[in-house]
Amino acid sequence: MKSLDQILGYVDIDAVTKAIMLGRSITVDGFARRPIRVLTHAHSDHLVGLKDSIIYSNHIIATPATLELVVELEYVPSRYKAIYKRKAIGLDYYQTVEFNREKIMLLPSDHILGSAQVLVEVDEYRLGYTGDFKLGGKTAVMKDLDVLVIEATYGHPDIRRVFKEDVIDLVIDLVIEGLRKYGKVAVYGYYGKLQEVMAILREYGISEPFVMNHRMYSVTKIAEKYGLNIGCYFRLGTQEAREVVDSGRYIVFEHMVKAKRRRLDGTILNLVLSGHEYNEPIRRVDQYTWLASFSDHADFDELMEYVERANPKFIVVDASREGYPHVFARELQRRGWKVAVLPREREIRGKHR
Ligand SMILES: [Zn+2]
Repeated sequence: MKSLDQILGYVDIDAVTKAIMLGRSITVDGFARRPIRVLTHAHSDHLVGLKDSIIYSNHIIATPATLELVVELEYVPSRYKAIYKRKAIGLDYYQTVEFNREKIMLLPSDHILGSAQVLVEVDEYRLGYTGDFKLGGKTAVMKDLDVLVIEATYGHPDIRRVFKEDVIDLVIDLVIEGLRKYGKVAVYGYYGKLQEVMAILREYGISEPFVMNHRMYSVTKIAEKYGLNIGCYFRLGTQEAREVVDSGRYIVFEHMVKAKRRRLDGTILNLVLSGHEYNEPIRRVDQYTWLASFSDHADFDELMEYVERANPKFIVVDASREGYPHVFARELQRRGWKVAVLPREREIRGKHR
């Protein structure tokens, strides 16, 4: 029988760098002095200390989409780009690599373009880290784990979405309404997520051209390269984009930071895709702006469902990132699961000194 102490010797989380350390030589989503750095996805709270890892680690492992996004979104300082490219290993979902008798596999997760879960097999142990996820169709549930390391962004029983399926339908209706009324719709959100929304709009038969700035265009190209069907999108500043804008009928995609400066002159409908949880899927902010709650994270029920389907021997709740790790751990314990919260509270407090 494997004891908790034995197993927890293979898992640790660093309060400062947010490194999820698995096995002997692997660190995920934060810097640690280990030869292998894995990136689950291209969000800043999972790319902590990337520059240090580029210098220290022998290999940087992620899905090919994440490896490209990380460069495109400028998480790699230019003078480290060459060394990053040399050390980077693109790992497709369900492919494995092995270093020092430790096997690494990435599994799909519904979060953003390229996002992955990490499965490590070391000695006789199977260790899994979910990264950020929501429990959509894409998310593979890791089974037969000795330890499941799970995020807890919405690990509070008060955070339950009652409208899981409705948001997309409501967003589609709003876009159609905006196009009918103004001919134009502006959609604000984050890289990776917006590209998924673009693909969904196409899926629902919305064929109006998309326009976007240079960086959004590059990210959209990466999204298409890795399987999203978008099509008919143009880079602002080109002749084609000018013609589209002059036609007066299009959808423009902008990064969330631009939402503050949105147009409120009755010529365009604004749709802001927030990652936060609200009590209602969609709400009107002003005469020309709607806010849609398009969360990338599992709510409490989905977190619990993941745990039940995975049925791991032990659970480690990640407390190094935002959320409700202690509340979630307590709820797990109440249901009979063996749980540890890492990093331990003392270490978390220590970082504010
Ligand atoms: Zn994320």
